[in-house]
Amino acid sequence: MSTTAQAISSADAHSAHNYHPLPVVIAHAEGAWMTDVEGRRYLDMLAGYSALNFGHGNRRLLDAARAQLERVTLTSRAFHHDRFADFCTELSALCGKEMVLPMNTGAEAVETAVKTARKWGYEVKGVPDGHAKIVVAADNFHGRTTTIVSFSTDHDARDHFGPYTPGFEIVPYGDLTALAAAVTSNTVAVLLEPIQGEAGVLVPPAGYLRGVRELTRERNVLFMADEIQSGLGRTGKTFACEHEEVVPDVYILGKALGGGVVPVSAVVADRDVLGVFRPGEHGSTFGGNPLACAVALEVIAMLRSGEYQQRATELGDHLHRELNLLVGGGAVTAVRGRGLWAGVDIDPALGTGREISEKLMERGVLVKDTHGSTIRIAPPLVISKEDLDWGLDQLRSVLGG
Ligand SMILES: *Cc1c(COP(=O)(O)O)cnc(C)c1O
Repeated sequence: MSTTAQAISSADAHSAHNYHPLPVVIAHAEGAWMTDVEGRRYLDMLAGYSALNFGHGNRRLLDAARAQLERVTLTSRAFHHDRFADFCTELSALCGKEMVLPMNTGAEAVETAVKTARKWGYEVKGVPDGHAKIVVAADNFHGRTTTIVSFSTDHDARDHFGPYTPGFEIVPYGDLTALAAAVTSNTVAVLLEPIQGEAGVLVPPAGYLRGVRELTRERNVLFMADEIQSGLGRTGKTFACEHEEVVPDVYILGKALGGGVVPVSAVVADRDVLGVFRPGEHGSTFGGNPLACAVALEVIAMLRSGEYQQRATELGDHLHRELNLLVGGGAVTAVRGRGLWAGVDIDPALGTGREISEKLMERGVLVKDTHGSTIRIAPPLVISKEDLDWGLDQLRSVLGG
């Protein structure tokens, strides 16, 4: 058996089968490239679902992590540590908000946002206790905890994990009329992805996010934007909401905030919202730890320069121009997205998204399919134009025959 086959069969034997990875075993990675256990190189066109916006082995991030590893890595929140204040101050400033509540994974940040909205609803808005409602969109992806799958419309994510957490109202994504109809006096928040990543990189109709902002402001409801995948440079802006000049009440961040080095997530909002928490009401042993803060501080500094957003804009324009040339040629039926992020619908006659992904893998390109015949393209923002073009060449070859 090859080294690859051996590694895969022992992983299959001893890990739960909650994923179906492509048959490649990575041993090393740098920038936009990964190398497998047999020395084959692959262009990473997924970037850990945008956790690796700054590329593999980014020098600045590794240096920041290494320096912090030598000093102190974990204190728990029982004590203060000397990176915490800077992290909260800098992240608040990046978001134009006043307060940060740090967690680790994206799902934890979404859970935190749900708890924030409920508490704000009862203590500030005056919703009767136990009656808070949060409006969410169909086809959402916000994580995999029991509460979050309670408002998922994806059967794989949801079925046989009940009983479900009540208090959520699901409306079609992109439909303002349906959203307005779902908001009642007990609604505390609208929770949305500004672009739905897992659903296939769905960009809502122009004016939708602005409409959500106006509606939520008028009805005294929090607008909570899950920017875990869309945020931190991916779409060419720091936040995808900026494309409609919208500022939500609550930013939910994760993935790239930890630079692909450590899990770092956060809820960011003003004092009138996050100020509802008192000691003991929420927390996490690892949330806001010194190593996480050190890496995230470097991520924030990198985003402050604007260079990654600019790369995403320029390379993204190029990516979408090239992908759009494929639409109508038979193989590609639609392309969506913004910045260096695209959902490409392949004609099902050419194969499932999985089959296309496997063919791309054989040609040295790693992508991930989603929902049938869609593949997602989201390379690290540090990818060179030449490498991006090479990746697109491989896609054209796979689709052409
Ligand atoms: C990945 C993701 C999450 C969940 O993050 P985890 O770190 O996997 O828990 C939530 N929302 C969105 C939009 C995501 O892309």
